[in-house]
Amino acid sequence: MSQPSIPHGAERIDLHTHTSWSDGTCGVLELLQHAREAQLDVLALTDHDTVAGWAELPAAVAATGVAAVPGIEVSSEHQGLSVHVLALLVDPSPDSELAAEMARARSSRIERARAMVELIGQDHPITWEDVRAQAAGESTVIGRPHIADALVAHGAIPDRSAAFAEILSPSGPYYVPYYAPSPVAAVRAIRETGGVAIVAHPGSVSRDADLPVDLLEAMVEAGLTGIEVDHREHDEAERARLRDFAAVHDLLITGGSDYHGAGKPNRLGENLTQPDVLAAITHRATSTTEVIR
Ligand code: AMP
Ligand code: ZN
Ligand code: FE
Ligand code: FE
Repeated sequence: MSQPSIPHGAERIDLHTHTSWSDGTCGVLELLQHAREAQLDVLALTDHDTVAGWAELPAAVAATGVAAVPGIEVSSEHQGLSVHVLALLVDPSPDSELAAEMARARSSRIERARAMVELIGQDHPITWEDVRAQAAGESTVIGRPHIADALVAHGAIPDRSAAFAEILSPSGPYYVPYYAPSPVAAVRAIRETGGVAIVAHPGSVSRDADLPVDLLEAMVEAGLTGIEVDHREHDEAERARLRDFAAVHDLLITGGSDYHGAGKPNRLGENLTQPDVLAAITHRATSTTEVIR
């Protein structure tokens, strides 16, 4: 999806991507190599609930010339609705409230996936070992995509999308929720570490409903800095609505691909962030974490 508002020749910036440290399918170096092929100048690494991939960024930046914004896509939960918050330039210290909340979410993700596999296993031939085998390593943050990959490996379904449409759907019989902090607590925890909080795909069509406006307002009150408007799961009407909300609340507007490698059709650079927005993000961040160039 092109964005004519980004001037020709400007830096190409994608602020939402995943690797195999969570549910993407390529490693950090491979991600940055693909970013260079996609003519990106800057990319944010935003794996779910982990900073494990950050250690590999300096070498990958040096090898590819693509700059990297260290980030996370933090899970949160509001009345059964999964709310994702992009946390950019946070302090990665394991002593923070943010780190504690993410550790709790990661272990709950494992319990939850085991419970889902237990239920799914009654109807489809997959085991917990099959799901573990789809994760790149011991520290991989487990999500439904790994269950999907196990189902695909067994030939139960053709791809991740088919799994999400049925077997893994929140409204289906096998869905089990996992612990995540409230969106307001997540925003506060991100801001406490000096990072910038941006609500990810708040109007995602894959949800049952848009995020309620009063929830977004509570997140703004808690220190939300921006809103991911340009995302493939937002149609033009949704983008217009979110742009208006951002204007009223003086929020930054970002865009990102939500690239998951081969796991999703999303292509790197399909949605971009304006260079002046990245400049504002780096200006707002108060931690010692910086864009790696
Ligand atoms: P979980 O973290 O376990 O709740 O799973 C959510 C993850 O699944 C998100 O990161 C999405 O990127 C991914 N996901 C959601 N819908 C789909 C889909 N239709 N195809 C592939 N991946 C998806
Ligand atoms: Zn994901
Ligand atoms: Fe997300
Ligand atoms: Fe994402």
